[in-house]
Amino acid sequence: MSNNIWAEIAEKIKGLVPEKEMLPLHEPTFTGNEINYVTDCIKTGWVSSVGKYVDEFEKKLAEFTGVKRAVAVVNGTAALHIALKIAGVQENDEVLIPSLTFVATGNAVTYCGATPHFVDVSRTTLGLDPFKLEEYLKDIAEIKNNECVNNATGRTIRAVVPMHTFGHPVDIDPLLDICDRYNIVVVEDAAESLGSYYKGIHTGNFGKISAMSFNGNKIITTGGGGAILTNDEKLADYAKHLTTTAKIPHRWKYEHDEIGYNYRMPNLNAALGCAQLENLNDFIEKKRNIVLKYDEIIKDYKGLEIFYEPEFAKSNYWLQTLIINNDEHNIDHALQILNDYGVMSRPIWNPLHQLPPFSNCPRADLTETCKVQQQVVNIPSSSYMSSYKQKGVQSL
Ligand SMILES: *Cc1c(COP(=O)(O)O)cnc(C)c1O
Repeated sequence: MSNNIWAEIAEKIKGLVPEKEMLPLHEPTFTGNEINYVTDCIKTGWVSSVGKYVDEFEKKLAEFTGVKRAVAVVNGTAALHIALKIAGVQENDEVLIPSLTFVATGNAVTYCGATPHFVDVSRTTLGLDPFKLEEYLKDIAEIKNNECVNNATGRTIRAVVPMHTFGHPVDIDPLLDICDRYNIVVVEDAAESLGSYYKGIHTGNFGKISAMSFNGNKIITTGGGGAILTNDEKLADYAKHLTTTAKIPHRWKYEHDEIGYNYRMPNLNAALGCAQLENLNDFIEKKRNIVLKYDEIIKDYKGLEIFYEPEFAKSNYWLQTLIINNDEHNIDHALQILNDYGVMSRPIWNPLHQLPPFSNCPRADLTETCKVQQQVVNIPSSSYMSSYKQKGVQSL
C-alpha cells in the first residue's frame, strides 16, 4: 500500500514541472545578467582576486540584508572560520552549536582549535532551542572572571552558533538574552538564510558577526562563495584584512602583519553573484509559492506534513521540507521510491555528534535532534518549480 502512496506523491510532484524527467533537489537559475557580467570579467581580464564586482557584490549584499558591512570570501566554510576567529574563539574554547547542521559548522569551530559542544534543536524552527539551552547552561556552566565556564571540562564557552535551518530563522530574541547574561558571543551561521527575516529584520543582523554561503545549491550562487557580515565596521575591516593574506595596502610592497588567509572571492564569482542578487526577490517569492503547492499535494495524506516557517519569521524556504511521521511511514522506503521516480530527495544531515570526528565532543540532551533526523526529508526546491501559479492558491 505505502508503495502506491509514494509513487502517487512522486507523480504529483513531477506534475509541477511536467517538462522535466527528473527534479533535482536544488538547481540554480541564470536568467538575468549572469552571462553579461561574467563575460565582462573575461573581456577586461579582471577574473581573479580583485575587481569591481567584488566591491559591488559586497555593497549590494549589505544593502539587501541591512547589515552594515559584507566581506566576500571563497566559500561559506571560510566565512564561518574567520567569523569565529574574529568573534574571539581561541584554542581550547568550547563553542555551542546545534548537532543538527551541515558539517561545516563543526569543522569551522575545530579550525580555530576549539571544541564543538552540541545542543538540541526546537521542533518549531528546526534550529537551536534557546529555552532548552538556558536550562542546560544553568546545569553545567558558571560565570568566572566574566567568562562562561563549563564546570565539567573547565573550558570557556566562548560562542554559540545558531544556524537557520533550510532558511527558517531560529528564535533569536530569547537566545540573545541568554547569551547576554552568560557572556557568550553569538555568531550566526546564516549560510542558508539569505532572504529570511526574523520579526522583520534580516538574518545575519543579530550576531556579533555572521556567515553566509553562495555555494551552487544555495538560494543564490557565485559558483562557490561566502560572505562575512557584521554591523561593526572595525570587525569588517579586520575580516577583510585577514581574508586577503593580512597584507598592508601598498602599491608595491609585500608587507603582511600577521598570518592571514587567502580566502578571497574571485571577481569572476562575484560577477555571477551581482547578477544573482538582482533576481533574489523573485527567487524568494517563487520559493514561498512552492511550499503552498507542496501543501496542496501532501495535505490529504495521513502522517505527512509540510514544514512551515515559524510565526515570527518570513523565511526564504531555501529547501522544502517534508515531515514524515515514522509511526505511519518508513522514511527509507519513501526516499527510495521518490528518488527512483526522479524526485530527488534527501534526509536531513546525520547529526554531527554521531560523526566519527566529533564523537568525543561534549553534548547536551539531543532527544529532539534524533527525532527530527528520523522524520525530515528535503524535496525538490528549485525556484523554477513555481513558474506557473496554481488557481486558487494564494501567495504567502
Ligand atoms: C552551505 C553551508 C555552509 C558552508 O558553505 P560552503 O559555501 O559550502 O562552504 C555552512 N553551514 C551551513 C549550515 C550550510 O548549509
